[in-house]
Amino acid sequence: MATILIVDDQPDNLYVLERLLKGKGYQVLQAENGLAALDAATTRQPDLILLDVMMPEMDGFEVVQRLRDDATTRTIPVVLLTANAPDERLKIQGLKLGADEYLTQPINNNELLARVQALLRTKQTQDELQSRNTQLTALLDIVQASTSTLNLDEVGRRLIDRAVSATHSDGGGIWLQQDEKLICLAQQGYSAEVIAAWETNVVADSPIGIRVLQCRKLLVGSTAEVFGDHNLLGQAGGTAIVLPLVHRDASLGLLHLGTRQTRTPRDEDLAFLHAIANAAAVAVQNARLFEESNQQRQDLERVDHERDEFISIISHELKNPLASIKGYAGLLQRRARKDTTLQTSLKGLDVIEQQVNRMTTLLDQLRDVSQIGMDRFMIEAGPVDLAHLTQRIAFEMQTTSASHQLQIDVHDEPLMIYADEFRMTQVLSNLINNAIKYSPSGGSIEIVVRREATPPQRPQELPLGAYAVVTVRDYGIGIPSDVQERLFHRFFRAPNTQGRISGMGLGLYITREILQRHGGYIWVESEEGEGSLFGVALPLLNEASEEHPATETPPSASASVAGTAA
Ligand code: ADP
Repeated sequence: MATILIVDDQPDNLYVLERLLKGKGYQVLQAENGLAALDAATTRQPDLILLDVMMPEMDGFEVVQRLRDDATTRTIPVVLLTANAPDERLKIQGLKLGADEYLTQPINNNELLARVQALLRTKQTQDELQSRNTQLTALLDIVQASTSTLNLDEVGRRLIDRAVSATHSDGGGIWLQQDEKLICLAQQGYSAEVIAAWETNVVADSPIGIRVLQCRKLLVGSTAEVFGDHNLLGQAGGTAIVLPLVHRDASLGLLHLGTRQTRTPRDEDLAFLHAIANAAAVAVQNARLFEESNQQRQDLERVDHERDEFISIISHELKNPLASIKGYAGLLQRRARKDTTLQTSLKGLDVIEQQVNRMTTLLDQLRDVSQIGMDRFMIEAGPVDLAHLTQRIAFEMQTTSASHQLQIDVHDEPLMIYADEFRMTQVLSNLINNAIKYSPSGGSIEIVVRREATPPQRPQELPLGAYAVVTVRDYGIGIPSDVQERLFHRFFRAPNTQGRISGMGLGLYITREILQRHGGYIWVESEEGEGSLFGVALPLLNEASEEHPATETPPSASASVAGTAA
C-alpha cells in the first residue's frame, strides 16, 4: 500500500488525518514542520504528501517550492490543505509553485480520499513509465556497449558492467558453458577462489544446471538456495537471479545478478532481465563467431605459408637433378651430332632437352609463386632499355617455332625504364611464349614497342604520364570474355585451353606481380576464336621526375594492377 506523508504543525490535525488514511490502509508518515517534511520526503520517498499551508517558520508554499527544486522529490504529488476559507489567489499561487491539488475548508473527507487516490494512480502510472524508460535506455546502452567491440572478453566486461548497474545489483557474472562445466567470461564482485571453485565444479545436478542450463528457465532465489556452498558474492543473505543465455536454440551459458538485500523482482523487471540476457546472448555469440573466423583465417594463413615454404623447398631440390640431366643430355647431344650412327638417339635427346627446359620453367614458376606468397619476391632494379630487350627476346624466341612469324615493330628507341632485367625478360618471354602456345595452327605474332603518352586501360591509382608499352598480338584461340577478369589469378586457366594445351595458370599471375612491383600494369584485349592482345605498360625512366614521381627512386611495390578488360 502507498505511503503518505502528512505535514501539519497542529498535532490534532495530524491525528485526524492519520486515522482517516490508516483507516483506508495507507501507511502514514508524519512531520510537524517544513524542515522535518523535507527531510522525510528525501529519505523516505513517500508516494504522496498532504501539506498544511499555514505553518510557522516555513509555510507550505515554501515546502512545495523546495520539493520541486530537488530532483529526488520533484515528482512526489503534493496536496496543499488550508484551514482558511477559499482564496483563489492563494490557490493559484500554490498550484503555480507545483502543488497538484489545493483543498480549502470545509474539507470533505471523501473528496480528500478520492483526490488522494486519483493522484496516487497518476503517480503510479508515471513511475511505471519512468521505470520502463530507464530500462529501455539501459537496454540500449547494453546493446550499444556490447556491439561496439568484437573482442569476446571486452564484450563480457561491458555487458556485466551495464547489466549490474541497470538492475541495481551488487555484482554478477557471465558464465559460458563448456561441456559439463562453466567458465567465467566476465564478473563483478566475485572472489578469485570462488571463480576457481565454480570453474572446476560440474554443475549438471545443481539448481543452476537443471533449471537454467537444461530447462533454460530463470532462477530466482535466496543466495544460499541458488549457490549452495559456493556463494559467488561471498555473503549469506540476499537474492540471486540467474538467467539462461540462449541464442538460436543453443544454450551458451548464464547471466548471474546478485544483491546483498533480499529482493523480489516484479513481472516487468523479469521482462527486462530476459531482454538483457537475450542482448547478452547475441553479443556473446557474435564475438565468439568473430573470434572463431579470425582463428580460422590465421590457421589458413599458416597453412598457406607452410605450403609456400614446401613448394619453395621442393622446387629448389628438384632443380638440381634436372640440371644434371640437362648436362648429361647436352653431352650426349654433342657426341650424337658427331657420330652418324647415333642420329636416331639425337631426336630423343632433343626431346629430353625440351622437356627438361619445360620442367625448369615450371619449377621456376612454382618457386616464384611461393616467394610471392611469403613476401620474399625480390626485385633488383637498374636502367633497362625495354625496346632493346624486347627485340632480343623476340629474336631468341623465333628460333623455338618455325610455324610462327614474330614481327617486331619498335617505334621509339631507346625506351628506358627502371627495372629488374631478369624479371622483365620473364614477363616478355611469358607473353610471347603464350602467343605461340595459344596459336596452335601457327601464324603471325605482332609485337609493338612504343612510348605512350596516355597508355590504354591505365588503372586510376597509377600516375598519369608517358609509359613504355609493349603489346603482343596473336591470332590464336582467344579467351572467352567472361573469364578474362580471372586470367591473372593464381592457377587460373581458361576453359578453351584446359585439356588441349598444357600449362599451370601461373605465368600471368607472376607477370602481374612483377609489373605491380615496377609501378606498371598489364591488360588484355581478346575475342574467343579471333586471337588476343596482351599489353604491358611501365613508367619511363627519363620522365620519372616530371611525370612519375613514384618512380624517381626504384618503383614502389605498392602500386596495383588492374587493366584486364577486353
Ligand atoms: P599457362 O599458360 O601456363 O596456363 P598463364 O598464366 O600464362 O598460364 O595463362 C593463364 C591462362 O590464360 C592460360 O591457361 C590460357 O587459358 C590464357 N591465355 C594466356 N595467354 C593466352 C593467349 N595468348 N591466348 C589465349 N589464351 C591465353
